[in-house]
Amino acid sequence: MESDVVEELDDTRAEFLTRASRALHTVFDHGLDDTGPGELGGFVKANHGTEKEQLDTERRLFEVDFDRWVLRTSDQGQQLRAEDADILDVHYGSQYRAPLDMKRHVEFLTRAAYGTLSADYVALDASQPWLCYWILHALNLLGQLDETENESDKIKKAKRAFVARLTQCRALGGRGFGGGPGQMPHVAPTFAALCALVTIGDEQALGIIDRRAIYTWLVTLKNTQTGAFRVCAYGEEDVRATYCALAVARLLNILDDALAKGCEDFISSLVSFDGGMGGEPGNEAHGGYTYCALAARCLLGSSLPSGSDTESSQFMRLAHWTASRHAEMEGGFSGRTNKLVDSCYAFWLGACCPILGVPFCGDSLERYVLNYGQDETGGLRDKPFMYPDFYHTCYALSGLSIAQHYGYHRARHADSQAHVAQLKKTHPVINVSIDKLEAAWLYFHGRPLTPSDFGGRYFTL
Ligand SMILES: [Zn+2]
Repeated sequence: MESDVVEELDDTRAEFLTRASRALHTVFDHGLDDTGPGELGGFVKANHGTEKEQLDTERRLFEVDFDRWVLRTSDQGQQLRAEDADILDVHYGSQYRAPLDMKRHVEFLTRAAYGTLSADYVALDASQPWLCYWILHALNLLGQLDETENESDKIKKAKRAFVARLTQCRALGGRGFGGGPGQMPHVAPTFAALCALVTIGDEQALGIIDRRAIYTWLVTLKNTQTGAFRVCAYGEEDVRATYCALAVARLLNILDDALAKGCEDFISSLVSFDGGMGGEPGNEAHGGYTYCALAARCLLGSSLPSGSDTESSQFMRLAHWTASRHAEMEGGFSGRTNKLVDSCYAFWLGACCPILGVPFCGDSLERYVLNYGQDETGGLRDKPFMYPDFYHTCYALSGLSIAQHYGYHRARHADSQAHVAQLKKTHPVINVSIDKLEAAWLYFHGRPLTPSDFGGRYFTL
């Protein structure tokens, strides 16, 4: 029985491939016959054939019944289920925004501080500072931290528990933070630990940071040849590590020429053929890495490309790539070309827009997060039919904050906004709320934060 199924599948694939390749051969034959490949390879030449040949080619391509013959990927399955569920049938084109289910999200977030996490979180054993940050930042955006009347005893206890756990994650001699107690220091959990401590924001939290020891450690992670940072001793180097190292150094007021040298050149080497940016030179453009690259430039105080013709064309291509990730139908952002929309990119790419000064539709981004990102049991998810988790809860809410405070709102009037809670305003370059960042800046820099601290971006604080 099983072997019959396999055989049938093989026949199906074979027939599809034969028919598709016959059709494509027509294109290639006509493309290459006269003068060789054109600018775009053989395809462009097909248009130079007769009208009959062109129609014949199209007919053969359309003859292929894609729904029947193409094997669906799991991504396509996810997309179709999400569209069938809500996006196409119910909400596409409407201004409806589901209310923010504050109570359930707070329950989902605080459960972690008291109960045991499910077995699914075992894989995040080396990401403990990230868990602390995702939970604390999400609670903060929801207005649950530091507002005496809102802050419950549960949350007060959670804050102390998180400071205790982060203290255990500190590396020997205070040289950064590891992913868990006893683990080697790494720039990603160090960045997360710092953001978590800044979000708690009191002396007890900020006091566990040893600036001098962190500076000494960061110097050892710098590759002076490429300008980039490594994630840890002997670890990989990429723009994620470079962003995390620069964010830590800038926030702690320890960024100097030794750390900054060459970063700009490394970041410039990440531009992909389509205008976006990848994690390492030559990589595919990706929303998370593009964010790290742009935010890292702000941390260096660099101006955006705009001077020479080359720079200005790079800027336009980058702006176009970023804006093109905002899907019209769903309202959210996808992380890469031809990928599905995912709520976490509401932050990674949503935040690129104010950094670049690119206007974007705050209404539609807000609708995606509220209508499709919220899980009925509390917490936020990638898309409908996916499970909620702390990572998506943090970044979907961060994206919602970006949409509400930096996006363009055509429908912002009393009726449409009455039921939508406004989140606290997050900072696009270092994703903590503006009030927390201002307080930490005063603590580490001894002076107030100003917009020019991030290279005079287009956004205002
Ligand atoms: Zn995601």
